Amino acid sequence: MGYKNICLECRTSYSKGNDYQNQVESNCPQCGKKMILVNHKFKPPKKSDTKNWEMVKLLVENGFKFQAVYEQIEKGLFLKVNSPKNLNDAKEFIKKIQSLKSLNISHTSVSILFVNAKDCNN
Ligand SMILES: [Zn+2]
Repeated sequence: MGYKNICLECRTSYSKGNDYQNQVESNCPQCGKKMILVNHKFKPPKKSDTKNWEMVKLLVENGFKFQAVYEQIEKGLFLKVNSPKNLNDAKEFIKKIQSLKSLNISHTSVSILFVNAKDCNN
């Protein structure tokens, strides 16, 4: 699994290798701010597409790093949650993530749950 580094200031993304275990946090070559690691599946909007970047920012600030997200419908049954396509979707999506978190799972284990669910899919 690879990952990308994104800079919300410059609205740019950089592919950063394929080793998810050894992810490197780095600073943006353009503005020097710390970049954010996201899943390699993230497709960056165009630089001029500020609306979509606003959505990306909202998601990232709420702890979503573009992992595959699965919602448990019942024991052993997961439904893939589609990634949001616009700002309204994003707000709904965040509510969904918050409700997953409120199932007494810490933020970290929620991330792990997402990653494991993705692995099962492969
Ligand atoms: Zn930057």
